[in-house]
Amino acid sequence: MSDLILFWHRRDLRISDNIGLAAARASSQKVVGVFCLDPNILERDDVAPARVSYMIGCLQSLQQGYTQAGSQLLILHDDPCKALPDLAAALKAKAIFWNWDVEPYSKQRDRLVSDALTQKGIEVHHHWDQLLHAPEEIHSKSQEPYTVYTPFWKNWSNQAKMAPVDTLHQAEGLTPEEQETAQQAGAIALPTAKDLGFVWDNELLTQPGEEAAQAKLAEFSTHAITEYEEQRNFPAIKGTSELSAALKFGAIGIRTVWAATIAALKNSRSDETQASIQAWQKELAWREFYQHALYHFPELADGPYRDTFKDFPWDNNPQLFQAWCEGKTGYPIVDAAMRQLNTLGWMHNRCRMIVASFLTKDLLINWQWGEKYFLQKLYDADLSANNGGWQWSASSGMDPKPLRIFNPASQAKKFDPEGEYIREWLPELRSVDTEYLISGDIPPLERHALNYPAPIVDHKQQQRLFKERYQQQKAMKD
Ligand SMILES: Cc1cc2nc3c(=O)[nH]c(=O)nc-3n(C[C@H](O)[C@H](O)[C@H](O)COP(=O)(O)OP(=O)(O)OC[C@H]3O[C@@H](n4cnc5c(N)ncnc54)[C@H](O)[C@@H]3O)c2cc1C
Repeated sequence: MSDLILFWHRRDLRISDNIGLAAARASSQKVVGVFCLDPNILERDDVAPARVSYMIGCLQSLQQGYTQAGSQLLILHDDPCKALPDLAAALKAKAIFWNWDVEPYSKQRDRLVSDALTQKGIEVHHHWDQLLHAPEEIHSKSQEPYTVYTPFWKNWSNQAKMAPVDTLHQAEGLTPEEQETAQQAGAIALPTAKDLGFVWDNELLTQPGEEAAQAKLAEFSTHAITEYEEQRNFPAIKGTSELSAALKFGAIGIRTVWAATIAALKNSRSDETQASIQAWQKELAWREFYQHALYHFPELADGPYRDTFKDFPWDNNPQLFQAWCEGKTGYPIVDAAMRQLNTLGWMHNRCRMIVASFLTKDLLINWQWGEKYFLQKLYDADLSANNGGWQWSASSGMDPKPLRIFNPASQAKKFDPEGEYIREWLPELRSVDTEYLISGDIPPLERHALNYPAPIVDHKQQQRLFKERYQQQKAMKD
């Protein structure tokens, strides 16, 4: 057995502020990274080309990071349950380190990989890294996990947070002979997204990799964060951090992100800026709330949390669903948002809530259809945040407020009052009066001339219908 340690990267595609990697380096000078392109994930029907493109970009940057540190990042493309133990055994590695994840598939896969490694006599070490607080750390007085955000936030925000951990500055890598052994055991050159069958030609909102994520954080935490509370709801304004993909793939460490909020608080000079910074911290806490929820209640991934929504009589009309996906519902704010999603692989949070409410409460389509479509498109898609957001919007999740129904026209009036966002994403409506853009009541002749569809449903009527079905369902289940 050598003193070689393998560090298995999964959703921590960075070198700095990485707890598991720092622990691996503390236990040996010789640390080599490995990433496994997992066919069980890549061959699913809900993988967004934009997401794969971002991930491959992060891996390229991670490979450069290892090279600079004097080591290597090995790439496998096979079932990790077999490929990793085979590689570790071929290289006679002493141990494998990795950081835990909360998703049901990851938990099951990790158990299998752990067992296979242990059988081969290779040590396994785990750490929590992607959260400021591990799921077991935050619980109610009766030791139960929280199912409501506000008490979670109160507890979570009062706990001391760890500072960023030290970086892997220098490590020893594989010898040329060992590199050959790694190749024989399945290590390959890093493929492109296209090689893997994913074509994404549009630019990504945030460039992949550690450096780009840190630059985005530096820019946001010294500027827009101070006006976040006021600007975060207006989709025409760049008022949010755009860090979601970096946080999903761990191109940035969560402790580094938190430290930036603390530095911003220290520099803040007014109650308004402090409130803004705290509003952003609360979003980071939502991210943790949903990850904890998925960890404790893995069944969330398969269906509604609330009983009322089990067997809910959805209409599930495929034509209406298609119109929603393509941004052709005749509701300008909904269509603009869906076109943003289809073009960027990202959608503003306010619009995610609007289109999710529209799909479920106006089109009476099962939220799980929308959840899957988002997975197929979003470059930041994350099972816990996406599922949490969809269940919140559908009213089927962990939210004490029973029914939320968004009126698209009121939302547009409040959050895109000049129609700037609508005009950006629906260029065919650029010449239309703002009042019509907001209300959606475009005069039929003008609508025809612009080749824009009539509203596919009537909001008021559908809202009534949804409420009726909800009350019936509730009466049956209660
Ligand atoms: C229906 C629906 C689906 C969603 N799907 C996803 C998803 O797949 N992946 C994802 O990361 N977020 C998802 N969100 C949450 C939110 O829309 C995005 O995190 C946000 O728009 C990303 O932009 P940002 O990085 O500029 O966010 P910022 O406003 O700058 O927020 C900072 C970070 O906090 C986290 N965050 C913010 N809001 C939420 C939230 N409501 N829930 C959980 N985490 C949050 C994200 O990591 C985000 O990057 C979803 C929300 C809804 C309503």
